[in-house]
Amino acid sequence: MPGEKQKLTILLAAPRGFCAGVDRAIQIVERAIHKFGAPVYVRHEIVHNTHVVSRLEKLGAVFVDELDEVPGDRPVVFSAHGVPKSVPQAAREREMIYVDATCPLVSKVHIEAQRHHKAGFEIVLIGHAGHPEVVGTLGQLPDGAITLIETVEDVAGFKPRDPEKIAFVTQTTLSVDDTAEIVEALRTRFPSVAAPHKEDICYATTNRQDAVKAMAESCDMVWVIGSETSSNSKRLVEVAERAGARNAALIEDASAIDWSAMENATTIGITAGASAPESLVEGVISAIGERYDISVEELRVTHEDVIFKLPRLVA
Ligand code: SF4
Repeated sequence: MPGEKQKLTILLAAPRGFCAGVDRAIQIVERAIHKFGAPVYVRHEIVHNTHVVSRLEKLGAVFVDELDEVPGDRPVVFSAHGVPKSVPQAAREREMIYVDATCPLVSKVHIEAQRHHKAGFEIVLIGHAGHPEVVGTLGQLPDGAITLIETVEDVAGFKPRDPEKIAFVTQTTLSVDDTAEIVEALRTRFPSVAAPHKEDICYATTNRQDAVKAMAESCDMVWVIGSETSSNSKRLVEVAERAGARNAALIEDASAIDWSAMENATTIGITAGASAPESLVEGVISAIGERYDISVEELRVTHEDVIFKLPRLVA
């Protein structure tokens, strides 16, 4: 019938979207604004999502790159990705009020790196150069104590001081499969390499990747909702493609949907990175619903019930 909409099944990955660390970081900024009044400064994007950042800006947050851009009499929040030790130290020297929104699972990696360093190990950090979390982890120890490794090839080129005394830690938002390959290469070259007590790639990253893997093969297209700066969101696109989705792409929100990518599709998948609000998912579904006759099925691989306590200053 003319005007009839084409049928389309939407598989909605679960878990998706906000993780406990992102939820906590956003609450910290909101509560700091409530407690101290605007403006509250935030060093770096609190979480890597454009919509979250602009909503907080409207509430009175001011985002800066470095601490010296913050007036000494205003409070400052450090982002969920973690900061080098020198940053809180500089804030203390300036007698500033600061709240650290570093995700407890990133802090766990910092503590691990410090523990291994104290025990005389040389640390290998598996991660992406320049990502704020990597900058923060590298900054937990003196220069040269940690070597960043990004690829299996980097493992081959790594020249440790003592091959018997190496420990590795990882960024929390990496591809589980890529990281397993790098760890395997490390273990092959250095069989005694010390590993983290518990996986550094966090539960939220792992669960979102598992959910995408579970639906990818059935999908003609997978839309991953998230910002270009979001590491875990970008990994979801790669995971979807590798797990058999015919196509996958990162979109900021409904306005970024490339409708031509959905031509002839009968099933599409939708997920969202750990810093993307659920309202964006709803927006994408409703935009698709305007053009297609949709049926939405949630594909859940696990339930999450992680909650992190707020820092005392804003609890
Ligand atoms: Fe914490 Fe993981 Fe969320 Fe990062 S993605 S903020 S490590 S829970």
